[in-house]
Amino acid sequence: MEGEYDFLFKIVLIGDAGVGKTSIVRRYTDGVFTSAGIPTIGVDFCIKTLSVNGSAIKLQIWDTAGQERFRTITQSYYRSADAIVLVYDIGSATTFRNLPEWLSEVDRYAGTTVHKILIGNKSDRTDREIQTHLGSQFAQENDMPFLETSAKSADNIDNLFEQLAKTLRDTH
Ligand code: GDP
Ligand code: MG
Repeated sequence: MEGEYDFLFKIVLIGDAGVGKTSIVRRYTDGVFTSAGIPTIGVDFCIKTLSVNGSAIKLQIWDTAGQERFRTITQSYYRSADAIVLVYDIGSATTFRNLPEWLSEVDRYAGTTVHKILIGNKSDRTDREIQTHLGSQFAQENDMPFLETSAKSADNIDNLFEQLAKTLRDTH
């Protein structure tokens, strides 16, 4: 029946402004991409239900909706997260260098059992500043899985959320 599910997981996207968090969520939930830039939307989260090994998994996906620009992401935003998606832009070394700062926020505010995944977004870019092996290495050092995605081409976007749903399903 509509609205029924076996598991509900809260997923939170973090990372510098402009890395493509909103675009990733839009691509996954609406199947669209816009290069014009995406204004802060009036809702806090999107919902998507998918099926994993016969279980209906409902994902509540939280986007930071502009707060990251002012570093005012609050403790409550992290607290109830089942998974954190930490995003950088493969075409911006700055967004990669800021990752440790984001991780320390996660350590400070998220629960100890939170699942983390590292995402190098904008893999379609030809002006890459961060090679894949650097992302992979950082993820390994911090005990996270790693994927490069493109909200523009849709590369690995479904895979990202399916992988998360599977992992969360297996650990709950
Ligand atoms: P946010 O601030 O992290 O939410 O980033 P946005 O989703 O608003 O995206 C910032 C800019 O990057 C926008 O102009 C997007 O169109 C662009 N963008 C987002 N994802 C991609 C991608 O995968 N590839 C490319 N080339 N541009 C992207
Ligand atoms: Mg955004």
